[in-house]
Amino acid sequence: MNLANWLHQTGLVRPGAPALRSGTQLHATYAEFAFRSSAIGRWLGARHGIGKGDRVAIFTRNCPEYLEILYGVLWIGAAVVPINHKLHPREADWILRNAEAKLVLTGTGAVFSDDLPSPCHEIAINGAELVQAVACAQPDSYRPPVPAEDGALAWLFYTSGTTGRPKGVILTHHNLRMMATTYALDVDPVLPQDHSLYAAPMSHGAGLYNFQFVRAGACHVIPESRGFDPTEIQALGEALGNLVFFAAPTMVKRLVSHAARAGFSGEGIRTIIYGGGPMYTADLEEALRVLGPKFAQIYGQGESPMTITAMSRAMVGADDHPNAASRRASVGIAQSCVEVRVVDAQMQEAATGEVGEVVVRGDTVMAGYWRNPEATAAAVVDGWLKTGDLGRFDADGFLTLTDRSKDVIISGGTNIYPREVEEALLTHPQVFEASVIGQPHPEWGEEVVAFIVQTGEDLATADLDDWCKAQIASFKKPKRYVFVLELPKNSYGKVLKTSLRAQLADGQPAGLASG
Ligand code: ATP
Repeated sequence: MNLANWLHQTGLVRPGAPALRSGTQLHATYAEFAFRSSAIGRWLGARHGIGKGDRVAIFTRNCPEYLEILYGVLWIGAAVVPINHKLHPREADWILRNAEAKLVLTGTGAVFSDDLPSPCHEIAINGAELVQAVACAQPDSYRPPVPAEDGALAWLFYTSGTTGRPKGVILTHHNLRMMATTYALDVDPVLPQDHSLYAAPMSHGAGLYNFQFVRAGACHVIPESRGFDPTEIQALGEALGNLVFFAAPTMVKRLVSHAARAGFSGEGIRTIIYGGGPMYTADLEEALRVLGPKFAQIYGQGESPMTITAMSRAMVGADDHPNAASRRASVGIAQSCVEVRVVDAQMQEAATGEVGEVVVRGDTVMAGYWRNPEATAAAVVDGWLKTGDLGRFDADGFLTLTDRSKDVIISGGTNIYPREVEEALLTHPQVFEASVIGQPHPEWGEEVVAFIVQTGEDLATADLDDWCKAQIASFKKPKRYVFVLELPKNSYGKVLKTSLRAQLADGQPAGLASG
């Protein structure tokens, strides 16, 4: 079944319901949203020869037209290739070539030089050609979406590339339908009165989470700022109510700082879904204190989009269970459409409490990497996707991630999980952010180095040493502290540890002070 059918059906069932807003301003009802998407689909076919199986890239910041185009592409059985708008055009160019996209829709047009790989060409989303095609569409030209195979490519998802070049993940109509269905079961209810806010780039998690809201006939809200602006989120919450949005942990932290300063206690926000990177316990406790029990968590990766484990709002907010603290530090329980295991190097299941690699199997696991059978074979073994994340299950089925396997530090033959050291450092009142990596050491193999962003200026390393020693074994304590003004992050707010390692390998970078 073509996923665009959900929009077609909602257009029939709730035609007058508000579907798309720019800020508080109405951009389209569901009847208009469905009509425009079908018109865009027709224009793509008639004017640009796009058909079943072709790829169409979208390279622009969030805007209401984004979803119209996304559904327009799906409508005719083609696939979308959403590209993070913060990438340099040269990086996006690499993705266009890899995906062999026939067309790229950009915000303003003229983003790329003329040498786009043939036959790919660029069209501006708000340019005359597309605007006219929609404006001139006749009401009787409306057709339902073409049928699509369950296993057909719907979304070619490029990983963010924190561990190498981005890879194209094949997400099928079936994968995405199951991801969206599972959301309502495991993460949060989806209601027609919801306002699904796109405060993070639609090319990734936030955009993937549109489908369930289309199915329910809820309204999609694109902030006027087109980005993550805590002041605007507060205003939208107050004006519209029932806001639901996905935010990476660094965005949550920014919202919480704003709320604490502005005396905002989250009015109008129903649920903030966090995930995509570690949420440190100290940050989550502060978020719950300032904004209340509005948080749900998902753990996923592009290869099993948004769906490995989850914790609903009730689970994150629960205080009355003897294991409440450890559950809160976990990433929750397996989502209902997947099986999740922790295994050793031979893919044998680890005992409860033992650390191993997290593997996942089920309806949302990708069909493979785009035209990369070697990478697919390495990542998916007997149907089990190897996540590269290390974790352990407790007796109740809550999974706690210890770290990514690539980030584990082996010092003197012992494993040190950076996350544990970061958690300890972050409880220090003068530490704003911390990221821990291993640096090669002639005697120990690796030694622990902590990058610290401090809240003030006078943090002494001896103080940090004492702080760590009071909480973790002394062999895990950083041997070196590097004070920085900010940590290198990708556009989803994820710390780029490869870049921290490169900085150390290159010698002391400018602007850093070492303790
Ligand atoms: P690349 O695969 O190119 O290196 P990436 O690792 O950033 O990019 P994503 O799919 O964007 O790929 O991120 C998935 C990873 O993010 C997971 O494997 C996990 O390490 C981390 N992650 C996701 N959700 C959570 C969460 N709730 N808690 C902790 N870590 C998480």
